[in-house]
Amino acid sequence: MLEWSRQWLLEGDIVRCPYCHNYQPLSRGHRVFVHQEQCKGASFVEQYPWRWLAWNLRSL
Ligand SMILES: [Zn+2]
Repeated sequence: MLEWSRQWLLEGDIVRCPYCHNYQPLSRGHRVFVHQEQCKGASFVEQYPWRWLAWNLRSL
């Protein structure tokens, strides 16, 4: 979860990239996150932030 919050911002029902400020709504969580060109966030291994968040929460 700590690692998740270094790479993404949760704002209500959208996830935002803190580097390029692109966002993805929950309803598109099954799709890969789309960054602006040259965004440093695009180099992160995990590009499905909603799925990753769900994975982090499943042990509750
Ligand atoms: Zn980005």
